[in-house]
Amino acid sequence: STMRDESIARTKTVCTYCGVGCSFEVWTKERHILKVEPTHGPANGVSTCIKGKFGWDYVNSDERLTSPLIREGDGFRRASWEEAYALIARRFTEIKAAHGPDALAFIASSKCTNEDSFLMQKLGRAVVGTNNIDNCSRYCQSPATMGLWRTVGYGGDSGSITDLEQAGLVIGIGTNTAESHPVLATRVKRAHKLRGQRLIVADLREHEMAQRADLFVRPNPGTDFVWLTAVTKYILDEGLADRKFLDEWVNGLDEFRRSLDGYTLAHAEEVTGIAQDTLRQIAHEIVQADGTCVMWAMGVTQQCSGSETSTAISNMLLVTGNYMRPGAGSYPLRGHNNVQGASDMGAMPNYVSGYQKVDDPAVRQKFAALWGKELPTNKGLDNHEMVHAVHDGSLRAMYLKGEEMGIVDSNANYVDEAFEKLDFFVVQDIFFTRTAQFADVVLPASPSLEKEGTFTNTERRIQRLHQVFKPLEGTRPDWLIIQGVAQALGADWNYSHPQEIMQEIAQLTPLYSGVTYERLEGFRSLQWPVLPDGSDTPLLFTQGFPFPDRKARLYPAQFIAPLEVPNAEFDLHFNNGRMLEHFHEGNMTFKSQGITSKVPGTFVEISPALAAERDLESGRFVRLVSRHGAVRVKVLVTGRVEGKQLYMPMNTPDAQQAVNRLTGSHTDPSTHTPAYKDTAVRLEVLPEM
Ligand code: SF4
Repeated sequence: STMRDESIARTKTVCTYCGVGCSFEVWTKERHILKVEPTHGPANGVSTCIKGKFGWDYVNSDERLTSPLIREGDGFRRASWEEAYALIARRFTEIKAAHGPDALAFIASSKCTNEDSFLMQKLGRAVVGTNNIDNCSRYCQSPATMGLWRTVGYGGDSGSITDLEQAGLVIGIGTNTAESHPVLATRVKRAHKLRGQRLIVADLREHEMAQRADLFVRPNPGTDFVWLTAVTKYILDEGLADRKFLDEWVNGLDEFRRSLDGYTLAHAEEVTGIAQDTLRQIAHEIVQADGTCVMWAMGVTQQCSGSETSTAISNMLLVTGNYMRPGAGSYPLRGHNNVQGASDMGAMPNYVSGYQKVDDPAVRQKFAALWGKELPTNKGLDNHEMVHAVHDGSLRAMYLKGEEMGIVDSNANYVDEAFEKLDFFVVQDIFFTRTAQFADVVLPASPSLEKEGTFTNTERRIQRLHQVFKPLEGTRPDWLIIQGVAQALGADWNYSHPQEIMQEIAQLTPLYSGVTYERLEGFRSLQWPVLPDGSDTPLLFTQGFPFPDRKARLYPAQFIAPLEVPNAEFDLHFNNGRMLEHFHEGNMTFKSQGITSKVPGTFVEISPALAAERDLESGRFVRLVSRHGAVRVKVLVTGRVEGKQLYMPMNTPDAQQAVNRLTGSHTDPSTHTPAYKDTAVRLEVLPEM
């Protein structure tokens, strides 16, 4: 029958998995999802990947939290919202009175909306009085942002996802794009196939994009900085640079050139293992291409040199004139759906919303005038520093939402010990997560399908999600929970809808100044900066760069070598990352039957050469041991990895066997992003069972 069933609703929402930001209509009948239909998403057109299409069962999972929980002895008991809020307010107040506001810390979520993140940092700053606030971009993309701030002034993708199709050359470095950003990868695949776009991939692992590439190089782990810098020096030395662009738009060339001393092609070959001829070929491909885009992700950023390598990418693009036009520029690919937004909203220790510096008197005055509260002046702690501060006793209480920190932070055993030491720990989530086991109070939140709000995707695109279902009985949207905590602490907050929060964001944040819910109705979207009249900025740099003289800045080269280079005791390099079907720790996707039926568990990839050497076959269990911990995992023998390099997906249903039992606490020094990819292990074959 073609008769329309009136009880079927169609609601536009935005995917809550990756930073591509696909939007689509969800067809529902009561609380059942009938289908997910992409129709005219500005980032995705009519496409989605498996997660966007089938990854929603978790919303109706029996395991959803449906009541606040309060610790009692070794367990938890259900409690009313009033009791939970009162307890939080009492403990926060006691701890602040005894140890000062900086004994408390707040962690916002990159899965939550902009409005949620904005309120979380407002709670920390305006109600409690601390800048101890951060979000999980600390675990992934902060180094990319750092590299871009130093050089071009904005930490975002230079253009739209669609612009990638216009590039003559796309270079992917440390990004497993086809699995981590599937719908974005299809743009590149299409241009490569149909338009003759060139594709160069640098990675440890021969994933799908590497197989498709015109040129695939495998630099030694943690050495991308060296080949990028040598290629840049070669381009300058051979007179292949874009002189006109450099003269007109770029500062700092002389100092930059001096910093390149010693970065010869011969040196790069020695350090990276990439032949000099190949490096020369890369240089010529870049200068000959009609526009080069560089995409990069965690293979670059989760290294000791994450910020420096991101800087080297941007330096190379400046030297070759690859900014200020479509089909050129930087594409740091954001992981979570709202990694970009959580940082935009000021869930960071040194910035309020829109990357306005906390220590700038004019900024502080503007916020104080609207909030009626002075902002704390001292720089707060980032996530990484928070864990150390708990260990040293200076940080006593934490309020964390939507983040499985006990699995996704590096050196998980050390993080567990910190959780145990906290005097008071509040965890807000949709499930009783592993991290929640350490909490004193657990607050049940509503997932994206039950919320109104906005997300900002990797291309700086702000999109609205419209509420598909009412919050599950017993749960509340995050913004409302944060408001409840603020009110219990005596704050006069009375937002009745996230729209009012966005009005405040727009008022205080130049990048978002023209954002209103009306301008984001349905499938409409805006890419920041958004001017007060509502005009937006699909191409980020059109009239120069956001510095006083509108010129970009070359930033001197400085290499930070990997720390855990394999040795006799730990002889294998341990790489880790995503897989297509699952998302992060898997709290959502492992509860989606459509996904777990395809990919039930985890594994470690080893090369055929290593399998032969150790007499191993796929399916055999091994123990991996690092300086920081050990895991037991099944082997998968595959040609995707080479030699003594291992690869293990971060997604696992068993936290005791997760990747971060093996990773250490060393970081990129400029951002404190953990060097997850800089890990050495040994492999012990377990007896067959
Ligand atoms: Fe799109 Fe990413 Fe969601 Fe897949 S996970 S549907 S690519 S936003």
